[in-house]
Amino acid sequence: MYKAEYIWIDGSTPTRFLRSKTKILGESESPPIWSFDGSSTNQASGNSSDVVLNPVFQCPDPVRGGSSVLVLCETLNTDMTPHPTNTRSACVETYERFSHHEPWFGIEQEYTLFEGARPLGWPSNGFPAPQGGYYCGVGANEVFGRDIVEDHLEACLAAGLEISGINAEVMPGQWEFQVGPLNPVAASDHLWLCRWLLYRIGEDYGVHATLDPKPVKGDWNGAGAHTNFSTKSMREAYDDIIKGAEALGKKHDEHIVNYGAGIEERLTGLHETCSYKEFKYGVSDRGASIRIPWQVAKDKKGYLEDRRPNANCDPYVVTKLITQTVCEAI
Ligand code: ADP
Ligand code: MN
Ligand code: MN
Ligand code: MN
Repeated sequence: MYKAEYIWIDGSTPTRFLRSKTKILGESESPPIWSFDGSSTNQASGNSSDVVLNPVFQCPDPVRGGSSVLVLCETLNTDMTPHPTNTRSACVETYERFSHHEPWFGIEQEYTLFEGARPLGWPSNGFPAPQGGYYCGVGANEVFGRDIVEDHLEACLAAGLEISGINAEVMPGQWEFQVGPLNPVAASDHLWLCRWLLYRIGEDYGVHATLDPKPVKGDWNGAGAHTNFSTKSMREAYDDIIKGAEALGKKHDEHIVNYGAGIEERLTGLHETCSYKEFKYGVSDRGASIRIPWQVAKDKKGYLEDRRPNANCDPYVVTKLITQTVCEAI
C-alpha cells in the first residue's frame, strides 16, 4: 500500500491555483486515471461536474516520505479531450512541433512569504528599512524565512525535481528559486510541483507563499518569473540569440497579455523592469524586456532572459509562446 497525492491546476480566475487529493494504491498498482468535482474548482457546472485527472508526471513525495508519491495530472473532459483549463496539452503540442530545435528553459520563480496580512519579518506597524541590503543578504535583520526556504530546497531535491538554486530577493520576505534548464514541458511540470511543495511546507510554519506580482504597493520590488531560453543553435552561435530577441519584440503585446494577471502593475519601468508599453533588449540590461547576460555576449553563444513574465504566470503558457515565437523565426 502507498499514498499518491494527485495534484492538478484548477480553473480559478484570473490566476489558476493548485489543488490536490490523496489516493491509496496497492503495492503493484501504478496511479490510474481519476476524477474530481469540477463544480468546486471553477472547472464544471454542478449538473455535469466530473473532470478527469490524467497522470502525466510523478516523483517521490518528500513530505510523506516512504513509498509515497506526488502525481501531477492534466485535466481532461470525460471524452478524454483536454479540458478548457488544461494549458499543458498545447505546450506538449508546440514542444513536439519544435523539438528538433531542442528548446531549454530555466525559470526564476520569485515569491513572497506572508504571515497573516504582512510579509514575513515586517514590523506590525509601518515598514522595514528601505530596499538595499536584502538581496542575497545574511543576518537576522535582513533575512526572513530561511528555515522554510531551506526545507523547500531539500524537499525539491529529495523529490528529484530539477531545482538549480535559491536566493533572497530585493524586498524583505521575498525569495527566489530556479528550475531548469529543461524542455518546455518538463520545466513547467517541475515548476508547478516546486510551487506545490512551497505551499505545502509553508503550512507547517503557518506561512503562506504568494506569487502575487506586486504584493506590496509603492517603492517595493514586484515578483517575476524571469524565463531563460535557448535552442541548440542559440547555444552554438550568437546570431540566433539576436534573431530570437527581435522575434519576441514583434509579438510583444501577445506575450504580455499571456504572462500573468496584473502585469501592468509590475512592469512599470521602475524596480528593474521595462514598462509593459515598451519592448527593448540589451546586454546586461536589467531595465530591458529581454536581457542578454554579459557572459553570453562575451562567449557569443548561450541563451536570453525574458524578464517580463510575472511570478503568477502559467509556465505552460509562457514556455509554449516563447518556443513558438522564437523557433518560427530562427
Ligand atoms: P539571474 O542572474 O537573472 O538572477 P539566475 O542564476 O537566477 O539568473 O537564473 C538563471 C537561469 O538560467 C537558471 O535557471 C539556469 O538554469 C538557466 N540557464 C542557464 N543556461 C541556460 C540555457 N542555455 N538555456 C536556458 N536556460 C539556461
Ligand atoms: Mn535570479
Ligand atoms: Mn530575481
Ligand atoms: Mn533574472
